[in-house]
Amino acid sequence: MRYIVGIDLGGTNIVAGTVSEDGSEILGVLSEPTGAEGGADAVVDRIVKLAKKSIAASKVKGIAGVGIGSPGPLDTKTGVVLLTPNLGWVNMPLRDRVVAGLGLPATLDNDANCAIYGEWWRGAARGVNHVVGLTIGTGIGGGIVLNGDVYRGASDIAGEVGHMTIDSTGRLCKCGNYGCLEAYASGPAIAARATEGIAAGADTSLPRYVNNDLSKVTAQVVYEAAHDGDDFALEVVRDTAKFLGAGIGSLINIFNPQVVVICGGVTLAGDKLFVPLRGEVKRRAFKPAVDVCRILPGELPGTAGVYGAAAVFAKMTWGRV
Ligand SMILES: [Zn+2]
Repeated sequence: MRYIVGIDLGGTNIVAGTVSEDGSEILGVLSEPTGAEGGADAVVDRIVKLAKKSIAASKVKGIAGVGIGSPGPLDTKTGVVLLTPNLGWVNMPLRDRVVAGLGLPATLDNDANCAIYGEWWRGAARGVNHVVGLTIGTGIGGGIVLNGDVYRGASDIAGEVGHMTIDSTGRLCKCGNYGCLEAYASGPAIAARATEGIAAGADTSLPRYVNNDLSKVTAQVVYEAAHDGDDFALEVVRDTAKFLGAGIGSLINIFNPQVVVICGGVTLAGDKLFVPLRGEVKRRAFKPAVDVCRILPGELPGTAGVYGAAAVFAKMTWGRV
């Protein structure tokens, strides 16, 4: 059995794990703060050290290479990260730097592509051919798997589902566009809609959850209040389902996937989100597409990106996974 080290590089943490080529085993899963403020060299150093530690902890021989998932945009052919506002990188040759540090071959792909490919390989979307996925956190990333391969488009941008316009004159998004799905349904956007509602006089117990400090309202706090039965918090969650439903309905009409997988903290809202979301999608998308599509929470929180980065390495290197 050959093994692949999967690296999930995020703005906050780096996660590494050693994955068997058939995906049946994941060993030596370790995490460390990214420490982006220390500069690119320090981050590469940390990735290399964490990969070595994961290999040592896994106690396996036969490491074939390293799959890296990184925030983008990036170029999968040259292995260069073009631009990451989170990490402050421009034209950073991440793949080759890791190759030099570890003496192992490596591949590079977008972090959200990796997370969704991981869910396709070993998680909620295993066993099907066509998957669309969303990773919802501080932003909304996404990935598209068609016929068991990541669909990357002409210049590795495909799958940026968070920047699909759902309201042409809507809220300003961090990307510069107006009305992106991310500007409504990311964690900070959910919190922003809640605090705006409170400022406008909504009758809600939400301020009590944060000692009246509205700057401390997060999506998590909104879910908590919704679970406790707060009507306004429930309305914020239902609105989130409506916005996501508009976006996912479009994705279902375009890609006709068997599974839409949703990863990230938003899944903590559970049925309060998924039930109205499925209803919204049903109202919006074509019936034969909705009938074959399951909308599911991710099953690999914390490791989807590691699995997926390893699977991308296998697919790019051996042509199969
Ligand atoms: Zn945007």
